[in-house]
Amino acid sequence: MITVEEAYEIVLSHQMTLETEEVPFTEATGRILREDIVADRDFPPFDRVMMDGIAINYNGWQAGSREFDVQEMQTAGAPQAELKANTSCIEVMTGAMLPSNTDTVIRYEDFEIKDGKALVQDIALKKRQHIHDQGSDRKQEDVLLQAGKKLSPAEVAVLATVGKNTVKVAKLPKVAIVSTGDELVDVHETPLAYQIRKSNVYAIKSALGKLGIDASVLHLVDTKELLMTSIKDTLSTHDVVILSGAVSKGKKDFVPEVLDELGVQKHFHRVKQRPGKPFWFGTTADNKTVFALPGNPVSTFMCFHKYFTPWLNASLGADIAPQLAVLKADFNFPPELTYYLQVKVSRHDETTVYAEPVDGRGSGDLANLIEADAFLELPAAQSEFKAGQVFPLIPYRA
Ligand code: AMP
Ligand code: MG
Repeated sequence: MITVEEAYEIVLSHQMTLETEEVPFTEATGRILREDIVADRDFPPFDRVMMDGIAINYNGWQAGSREFDVQEMQTAGAPQAELKANTSCIEVMTGAMLPSNTDTVIRYEDFEIKDGKALVQDIALKKRQHIHDQGSDRKQEDVLLQAGKKLSPAEVAVLATVGKNTVKVAKLPKVAIVSTGDELVDVHETPLAYQIRKSNVYAIKSALGKLGIDASVLHLVDTKELLMTSIKDTLSTHDVVILSGAVSKGKKDFVPEVLDELGVQKHFHRVKQRPGKPFWFGTTADNKTVFALPGNPVSTFMCFHKYFTPWLNASLGADIAPQLAVLKADFNFPPELTYYLQVKVSRHDETTVYAEPVDGRGSGDLANLIEADAFLELPAAQSEFKAGQVFPLIPYRA
């Protein structure tokens, strides 16, 4: 049996080659950028008026002028006007270009207009006040977003402002989720006494949906022949197959032998971890990837977030920072396995994330997933974990 560190490294060393595609920027939320986004002009692109009022030439003010003839009006969206005399002013609106030969804006609150003149009150005036200087935020040609960035609404605003009508992003893989088990019935059905409704597929489908992937879903009963034909079919039409169940030592756990007979190369089976020990991982000669996860709902959920999500991010070229959290209470786990402790996350200040144990009743206790927000990865070599110690965090709500 291999360690978590070995398993993780093997999974990440079998990244998938995902091509680049161009999509409308309005459909790019959640996708991973495959190009650098550069400022097509200065930010802001001109000296921008920040207050409704008048623009004057500061030299006029310094020379003692307090009454300014209103020459004209400069509104947002109009070409730049030019101030003709330092004893005059131009009315300006927020978002307008600063008129040429002006360098200072006075807001309406600080003057009155009477008979075509602006009468300025006794105020402390600063040269270039209320002006958002051209290029003060970003310069033309500055790299605003780097390839690898996950696009969120803030990035969409930047794409829009630089005129990226379409944007290059990583293509998403075609994923199938296959659940197995004679005891499982569908959600709309009423289970008999010895049956349960399937939940794993929907948890994974929902998690994939958050990553932008619309996965297909299939359920198979525990019959070797059916598994053979159906998994073969599924592999031929998808890039990734995520299986749930039938990878342990039960008499009907046919998945490992079926994958073997189908020619999927096994990279490992069984990992020194709890939950999720029977996890199986392999690839095919034609670059398909198979994650065969144990069926216990918490195991499936944990393996998906610990292994599949980083594998996908690496394949997409996504730049996702690993997370850490401070354990909030002592916890013991003597077996020589990496333990994935379910924790509730809280943030006491800007920099520190705390993880409070809300350990459930084992890998079948899927209701406990609702109480927690993340798994805290407790290393196999240690058996006593003390409050205040820091460990890797695998959040599943973010
Ligand atoms: P298995 O890995 O097939 O031995 O299944 C382990 C446990 O997880 C059994 O109690 C199954 O009933 C349960 N299980 C397997 N697949 C699912 C699923 N798709 N949804 C909910 N529970 C499942
Ligand atoms: Mg089963």
